[in-house]
Amino acid sequence: MSILVVGSVGIDTIITPAGKAENVLGGSASHFSLAASFFGLVWLVGIVGTDFPKEHLESFRARGIDLEALDVVPGETFRWTGRYPEHFHGRDTLEIHLNVFKDFAPRLPESRRDPKIVFLANIDPELQLHVLSQIEKTRLVVGDTMNFWLATKRDRVIEAIKKMDVFLVNDEEARDLCATRSILEAGRKLQALGPKVVVIKMGEHGAALFHESSIFLAPAYPLTAIVDPTGAGDSFAGGFVGHLARVRQLTPLAFRRAVVYGSIMGSYNVVDFSAHRLLRLEKEEIDHRYREFEQLTRF
Ligand code: AMP
Repeated sequence: MSILVVGSVGIDTIITPAGKAENVLGGSASHFSLAASFFGLVWLVGIVGTDFPKEHLESFRARGIDLEALDVVPGETFRWTGRYPEHFHGRDTLEIHLNVFKDFAPRLPESRRDPKIVFLANIDPELQLHVLSQIEKTRLVVGDTMNFWLATKRDRVIEAIKKMDVFLVNDEEARDLCATRSILEAGRKLQALGPKVVVIKMGEHGAALFHESSIFLAPAYPLTAIVDPTGAGDSFAGGFVGHLARVRQLTPLAFRRAVVYGSIMGSYNVVDFSAHRLLRLEKEEIDHRYREFEQLTRF
């Protein structure tokens, strides 16, 4: 099943308690696409400037990612600098330069207007809505957002959520959106906005899936050391959406397993800077970790 993703593709500088990585591959759509590419065909919709390193385009191509709708235009690529404090509690955005994203109006080629699954990665909600307006038929719309857009374009974020079948969100954003401390209440309130399925990601505490009236809880894979959490949410989404695309089913069981594949891809992403670990990942390692999850949760 084809997966279309629209999101940011950029260059990050990241400072964490484990060290610093300058000018590395970043962007929500980059992490998502690399993770999802282990499961199905990904069409990447985004924009970069002519300064975007060719090696990153090659990395996408090497994973079979379709770049037909990734515009390369004169100008500078999106840049983001972030810092994680001691113990990785929270994250500060030190710099954000939208650059070529400022005037981006994605236009999908005729041949890319009927994806089976659309993933609206973290990006300006206007762009998420703009892409949705061009999609002709799709089976499932999945989306994400981040605190930056909740603070600057809250109404448009809510507009986009209403159009989603599945909404993936982290715990702090869910609490903020729903004005509650309770994850359970937040999940139910978000479902009431429109999405049948809501996944609240709780970092090292795992993820909660709300599917119609049922709830499923999956742990996060236990790790001894985290290097860089950037893109964990997008990699989670890549595993989640990728699994649904691969099994071509939207059953309760498929959604539960999708959460586990999301946790697996997130866990691999955070042990190195940028998407470096995903770029070295082998399919067998995903299968191996899936079996470990089965052991971890069987009782
Ligand atoms: P995540 O850690 O899953 O929130 O994703 C982090 C990625 O999102 C980084 O690689 C950044 O390049 C990118 N990013 C940061 N801020 C924004 C923003 N406001 N809009 C779109 N992408 C962003």
